[in-house]
Amino acid sequence: MSSDKMANIPNILLIYTGGTIGMIKDYESDVLKPFDFQNIYENIPELKQLNCTIETVSFKDPIDSSNMNTDYWVQIIDIIENNYDSKDGFVVLTGSDTMSYTASAISFMIENLTKPVIFTGSQLPIGDLRTDAKENLITAIQIASSKNEKGQPVVTEVGLYFEYKLYRANRTTKINAEQFEAFTSPNYPSIAESGVHLKFNESLLLKSSLKKKTIFRKHLEDSIVILKLFPGITKKTVQSMLNVPNLKGVVLETYGSGNAPTVAWFEELLKDAVKKGIHIVDVSQCVGGGVMLGLYETSNHLKNIGVIDGKDITTESAVAKLMYLLGENISKKKFKNVFEKQLRGEMR
Ligand code: ASP
Repeated sequence: MSSDKMANIPNILLIYTGGTIGMIKDYESDVLKPFDFQNIYENIPELKQLNCTIETVSFKDPIDSSNMNTDYWVQIIDIIENNYDSKDGFVVLTGSDTMSYTASAISFMIENLTKPVIFTGSQLPIGDLRTDAKENLITAIQIASSKNEKGQPVVTEVGLYFEYKLYRANRTTKINAEQFEAFTSPNYPSIAESGVHLKFNESLLLKSSLKKKTIFRKHLEDSIVILKLFPGITKKTVQSMLNVPNLKGVVLETYGSGNAPTVAWFEELLKDAVKKGIHIVDVSQCVGGGVMLGLYETSNHLKNIGVIDGKDITTESAVAKLMYLLGENISKKKFKNVFEKQLRGEMR
């Protein structure tokens, strides 16, 4: 192949962090063993048919995604940053259990992303006879290497590809531990679908500017809690959660369109927390739809206290956005306004 042609072939970096997708079954012993991504072309010869080159990098000790944390998120960002200029796109493989958190965090940590970063994984190991891993992996790579007629990447955002659908990553949530269709994006349509053809929904994609610099942000504040309301929740429980030492932020999972108890003790506790400078984000427990602060009396008190309107954000994305913004040195006065603005297409 001529060097001109080679230069036009997208170069994709595959980052393996761990998870089921990287397992292969040893049929003699019936045991799952790690798959060798260094020899990816030997193990998945179908990849040779793709019009791209693939390099791989793997976490030294791959993790089950239950062990994911903010240090690993920074590790993923470091890998992307160090390879940003030399690669055309990135495919990140993680376990599906916490993929929506991780992919949301990565979306906030890269400002003005100009290349595709596509997360995928699988429900069955890559070496299993009925695996969903091969299709997910092959199509994710294909998406990451897709260019438009001007030779620019089609996707310039963090996506999550699973079972024939590409979603905006920070809009996703894992909904099924059994079916191949493990993810959904309740408040934003899929941005691409894979059928006989790979079809992008251009009007739904985030636009990026090549004139602006891409910035990688690595300060995350993890002193936060998720406080999920349930009928019968006691003062003692709420009090102890809001008094976690050094607490900086709370994702408050409320009912319906953002509603919460109106009893005096609940309101007082929240008021005190906000006064202390703790940022509280109202997020709905409902899978679809979102918060409409002030629609009912049962959310009007939250609005008056200064609780942040999480609108239609997912809990996963709210956690990531809160950690990201708390790490960004934003003044207490401005924080609510900044949070309520759409940063990476994560909320309405
Ligand atoms: N427990 C695995 C993980 O999240 C499941 C998966 O890979 O999908 O790491």
